[in-house]
Amino acid sequence: MIPVDEAQALVLDNIDPLPAETIDFAEACGRLLREDVVSDIDMPPFPRSAVDGFALRAEDVASPPARLTVVGEVPAGTLPDFRVGVREACQIMTGAPVPEGADAVQMVEQSRWVGTDVEILTRVASRQNVAPKGSEVRKGDIVLRRGTRLDPPAVAVAATVGKTRIEVGPRPKVAVIATGDELVAPSETPGPGQIRNSNAFSLVAQCRAAGAAASFLGVARDDEASLETLIRKGLDFDVLLLSGGVSMGRFDLVEKVLETFGVRFLFDAVRLKPGKPLVFGLRDGTLVFGLPGNPVSTMVTFELFVRTALARLEGAEDPTRAHLCATLDKELRNRGVRRAFIPGWVRTGESGELHAFPIATRGSGDVVAFSKSNALLIVPEDIDKLEAGDDVRFYPLDSFLIKEDIWQAGRNPS
Ligand code: AMP
Ligand code: MG
Repeated sequence: MIPVDEAQALVLDNIDPLPAETIDFAEACGRLLREDVVSDIDMPPFPRSAVDGFALRAEDVASPPARLTVVGEVPAGTLPDFRVGVREACQIMTGAPVPEGADAVQMVEQSRWVGTDVEILTRVASRQNVAPKGSEVRKGDIVLRRGTRLDPPAVAVAATVGKTRIEVGPRPKVAVIATGDELVAPSETPGPGQIRNSNAFSLVAQCRAAGAAASFLGVARDDEASLETLIRKGLDFDVLLLSGGVSMGRFDLVEKVLETFGVRFLFDAVRLKPGKPLVFGLRDGTLVFGLPGNPVSTMVTFELFVRTALARLEGAEDPTRAHLCATLDKELRNRGVRRAFIPGWVRTGESGELHAFPIATRGSGDVVAFSKSNALLIVPEDIDKLEAGDDVRFYPLDSFLIKEDIWQAGRNPS
């Protein structure tokens, strides 16, 4: 049994990124950038007005009110073909180029028309409301760095600098196999001793949420022939995820069959709770994860190990999950020597401070309780109890930022 950090490092250290691909920038949101993107222009490309108003010489309005001759107008999208001289002004729109001679723009709200002249009512400093050419970005500057996860603002940057074809990490291809004689399809009613297969579907959903392309290959029965057939197919993918069959039971045959295919194991037990029997191995280009079968263990080990592995395949240098810290509203116990990841609810208090409490759960099979959580509360391996009022570290789950407080609202944590 190896420590969580060591296992996470072993996974990442043994992954080489997949070859990059070039795609249309408008389709690139969510993908991992594999090149530095450089601006082909100065931004702004000309001295740009930040407001609607009058371009003028600041010294002409040093003792307002000041009456100026209006010599022209610059709508957005045109370059002025005139200068602004002494005691002159020009009407200008937000985003339009400031004509030569002018060094400031006064807002239209601080002016009034007097016939065809304009009266400027308050002073304005030199350079005020003017963004100089190249003040945001210079031609040749790096505007997006390799390794960035492209988000909507990054797409806007690519558009701004004309980067229409962009090099990104490919979506890793993931095969999902569920194992177990007890499993029936969700559309079936379980017979005696049977349960519905949920892991295959949560794993496919988690892969897709992480930006990977996942295929469910089917349910393997707890016999070697059935496992062999599906594992052979799964080893053609970048990543093979198996759920179940990795514990110590007599029918836990996953490791044995993987071995016959020449999978090299880097670990087969991790000091974490839930998820101790987690297996990780390599074969040619394929990463193989044997995830424990209990539905909560499956999802938690995916979040802790597979998620970062997928990011590494896409080309992330050193992906780690961000953790945050909250005040615990209810004590947390951790018996034993494993690091515990406890489904929790984290909410913000009146001044924005974070409070956490564990969701009432029947354990790592309790998928309904887990679905009510928005965070994994972390209890270190060397601590057997965190008290109410203590700080607790946690990993936010995907739902953390926008999940509605449907189940926990008004609930007393104790
Ligand atoms: P195993 O790791 O195969 O011993 O499975 C541990 C527990 O998880 C057992 O109670 C299984 O019935 C359950 N389980 C295994 N695979 C799945 C699955 N695909 N969907 C839901 N539960 C599962
Ligand atoms: Mg099983």
